[in-house]
Amino acid sequence: MEQLREKQMAWLRQIHEHPELSYEEYETTRLVKQVLTDAGIQLIDTGMPTGAVATIGHGPGHVIGLRSDMDALPIQEETDLPYASREPGKMHACGHDFHTVTMLGAALMLKEMEDQLPGRAVVVFQPAEESGGVSGGTRVAESGATDDAELFLALHSYPHFEAGTLGIKEGPVMASVDAFKVTLKGVGSHAATPHKGVDPIPGMSALVLNLQTIVSRVLSPFETGLVTVAHAQAGNTWNVIPTEAVIEGTVRAMDQRVRERIKAAFYRMAEHTAETYGLRAEIEWLAGPGPVVNDERLCAMAREVATGLGFVIDRQEDTMGGEDFSEYLRIPHKRPGLFVRVGTGGGYANHHPKFTVDPEAMYPASVFFRDLAIRCMERGAEG
Ligand SMILES: [Zn+2]
Ligand SMILES: [Zn+2]
Repeated sequence: MEQLREKQMAWLRQIHEHPELSYEEYETTRLVKQVLTDAGIQLIDTGMPTGAVATIGHGPGHVIGLRSDMDALPIQEETDLPYASREPGKMHACGHDFHTVTMLGAALMLKEMEDQLPGRAVVVFQPAEESGGVSGGTRVAESGATDDAELFLALHSYPHFEAGTLGIKEGPVMASVDAFKVTLKGVGSHAATPHKGVDPIPGMSALVLNLQTIVSRVLSPFETGLVTVAHAQAGNTWNVIPTEAVIEGTVRAMDQRVRERIKAAFYRMAEHTAETYGLRAEIEWLAGPGPVVNDERLCAMAREVATGLGFVIDRQEDTMGGEDFSEYLRIPHKRPGLFVRVGTGGGYANHHPKFTVDPEAMYPASVFFRDLAIRCMERGAEG
């Protein structure tokens, strides 16, 4: 096992030094597939050029999914790690290198005891978690390679806990992520003759303010939602009324029904505010992943396993960040899942140029996922 610990460290350094952006994870994929096939682990074809899905075990028990992701971010690394990124402008700033190697470790440990496994594990090394648009989670889940899994387990690095601490919490832990763009179409004119055009700027301003009332007036004070207008643009000089104005932003929710109510209110306000000001609203809505909701029975099993291994268990902080792990809990049908935050120390937030993970967290996390996987193969999601 000392040997695996050392190998994991070497793989982490190698992947960290050579970060690859979403859907470009060719070298990382090659390393992962090499390690898996060298160990005699069988791969399932996803038809995708990057990422990998492996299957381990042939026991009669439950089929469980283990999921990691492998892409990096377009960030210039500012750590002084000896194995800092060698790729300019690219960095593993979300710890997906750590996720990949942790699950690789778990896969090898499961393989070692394959004949005794009570069920089967489907282990996912997913590309493109950070991509906008159709992300890797959606594509892997839609490929059919993970259809058999009855439940899914995943991890995320968490810099605000030290190594040795796990964040386990029931219910919603990550938000749904939708993006919007509204183009308000008016009629341009001279700044001195507003009556000869239809100025989109007052309408845009009103819409930005109206949207703020969705969370405060449409949702219950006990519900969680977010509407952020992150970009507003109109005109380009002082004496011309522009033809159109554009706003862009994001909508987040911890619950699917809340998400749908925000969307309905958003459309109503955008269309009617535009009409009030004589404008036409063109709305583009890009639906991203849904909320990640942790299954209670899986949380209970995870606590049992973690306590047995000597981990400290903490409540993870609520966040309106998103994660496409939710796609595995939805495609091809609903199934229970658990998203565990693994303390990796360092203190700098995910996506910060000084973000680091404590490699000491890696091996114990692999052991945790091995043991939890076996427990789930025995009992399924019923606990
Ligand atoms: Zn991230
Ligand atoms: Zn991430």
